Amino acid sequence: MTKEQLKKTSAAPGERVQTRIILLFGAPGSGKGTQSSLLTSRFGVGTLSTGAMLRNEARRRTPAGFRLRQTLASGALVGDELVCEIVASRIRALPSGETLILDGFPRTSKQAEYLDRLLSGMGMPEPLVLHLDVPRDVLLRRLATRRECAKCGAVYSLASNQSSRCQVDGGALVERDDDSEGVIARRLSAFEAETLPVVECYVGRNYRRIEGNRPAAEITTELQGLLGFTDSAVAA
Ligand code: AMP
Repeated sequence: MTKEQLKKTSAAPGERVQTRIILLFGAPGSGKGTQSSLLTSRFGVGTLSTGAMLRNEARRRTPAGFRLRQTLASGALVGDELVCEIVASRIRALPSGETLILDGFPRTSKQAEYLDRLLSGMGMPEPLVLHLDVPRDVLLRRLATRRECAKCGAVYSLASNQSSRCQVDGGALVERDDDSEGVIARRLSAFEAETLPVVECYVGRNYRRIEGNRPAAEITTELQGLLGFTDSAVAA
């Protein structure tokens, strides 16, 4: 079976496979980006990282790109309207029967309400909500040592990687603008004030807490099980 087929496969033979949305929640540094790219490379599942998408937009040499760069560098959240538009156009274009992981959305209660309306308007089921929970002191340590490839965005930790070059494409490993000490504090506060209340609203509604202070491979295996992806299906 190919990855293309697998993306659509989690139902028994003859059963209609539903399009489904997975919400991957976690504070900055919780490993959302790492897990969603591992799931994409191993199982071909689609991911939309609003943070990565906004960072790309912010590289544009336009007044809008400049404003966005300033917002991201400050650690504040970007306006709900822009982010909702990006997510809605991706969900509307989702081929039938596919799974999409949203990494970093919704982050405010307005975004969560918007998503609820969008999914119910499209006749889609409630999302599966996965929350990577990591203690604050571990997040602070991870963010202080996080480096990103300037070319492809692959994430590394200085704690486990001494090289200054990306293993994928040799790009320089740099600190993200928003991983400096003061900005980290602001981003964590934004998560606690704006996003944790959203996570709490999902508890009891298709919600799973994932212990996030573990090796990445262990977490991927747990997510794989929850999403119903099998290695044999990829290899076959
Ligand atoms: P992330 O890579 O998920 O940590 O996101 C990086 C930055 O992008 C955040 O600090 C916000 O400024 C912005 N961002 C990402 N997702 C959202 C969202 N759903 N709503 C508002 N701002 C967002």
